[in-house]
Amino acid sequence: MHGSVLKTRTLKHRPLSSSTPNTSPPLSDTFHRQVSYARIAVTGACNLRCAYCMREEHESDSSGRTKMSFTELTTLISVLAEAGITKIRLTGGEPLLRGDIADLVATAKNTPGIKTVSITTNGLLLDRHLDALLSAGIDAVNMSIDSLRADRFLAITRRNEFERAKANLDRLLSLESVPLKINVVMLRGINDDEIKDFTNLTREHPISVRFMELQPFDDHQIWRTGKFLGMDKIRGLLQSAHPGMEELQGSGTEYFSFTLPGYRGSWAIIPAYTRNFCSRCNRLRIRADGHLVSCLYEKEGIDMLSAIRNGESRENLLELVRQSVRLKPEDGKTTDRGESSMGRSMSEIGG
Ligand code: SAM
Ligand code: SF4
Repeated sequence: MHGSVLKTRTLKHRPLSSSTPNTSPPLSDTFHRQVSYARIAVTGACNLRCAYCMREEHESDSSGRTKMSFTELTTLISVLAEAGITKIRLTGGEPLLRGDIADLVATAKNTPGIKTVSITTNGLLLDRHLDALLSAGIDAVNMSIDSLRADRFLAITRRNEFERAKANLDRLLSLESVPLKINVVMLRGINDDEIKDFTNLTREHPISVRFMELQPFDDHQIWRTGKFLGMDKIRGLLQSAHPGMEELQGSGTEYFSFTLPGYRGSWAIIPAYTRNFCSRCNRLRIRADGHLVSCLYEKEGIDMLSAIRNGESRENLLELVRQSVRLKPEDGKTTDRGESSMGRSMSEIGG
């Protein structure tokens, strides 16, 4: 699988800081995987309409019934931390649509046991929130942008917001104090000729660009329409663009990581569909509706939001987290825990 011409080096990115030491014992599932990471969709709403994620008319509970309040979210974070989670990622929907996002980061950072708090964002509202996020101590930012061309950005996202996204990306690139990853979903015939435009960013900047496979999580199943570009094809495109690229020791999801001599950053392939990372999965997810799922493919999950609203004791909330971890399937794609959630938009699951 790994090309023989590729050499192996060690990743050299901006280090993550750590804060309060974790006092909770590690959280392990029945297959001896240590679960330490929670991704929280802090809203299901979004200011873009990426074709592979949401329908134009996508609605995320406009009644606000399932919108988690600040207190509900921080309760959840402290319960997760007490259960053994050390790393939190705030995602969505678009997390920066929450006016209280920086306060959430600050509170999560101050939660005993939580070592890192990061965010995945489309970047549109960073001009409004970035300073506050930095003051709150955000540890890392992932910004999703699938094209560096205005017309394509509009075609993919259905919103004419390229200039704003690009200006905010440029600001992030200039900020070397915070680790930055750029997420690019690869779409056949749409952005697959932009690989070099993205990798060129890593020459000057110590960032990682992640070329991601399309996954079957959108509410209108666009992934069935021939836009999917698999890991091998992406790798071939990268190799053509950079015949001298060297392979790095990637981590977890960044399985195939590369760079070139003299480049400050790197790029990676995220083969989220063709490869099965279940054996190394360390994560839980809180969906935008407040349901806790221990697997991307899980349909129902545990309704933590209702449990909190019903005034369940802290011990009971902790037990629900442990129960979710106990039920974490060995292999998500073959789980027998109900139908998969493939028809559900990634904006509800949190990516
Ligand atoms: N709105 C934020 C953003 O776009 O970064 C955070 C939420 S979004 C659901 C998180 C990540 O999921 C983004 O990088 C997005 O590109 C990715 N994503 C959404 N739908 C996807 C799909 N069907 N296949 C692969 N990645 C997807
Ligand atoms: Fe919004 Fe992110 Fe989904 Fe795009 S990928 S529609 S930015 S939630």
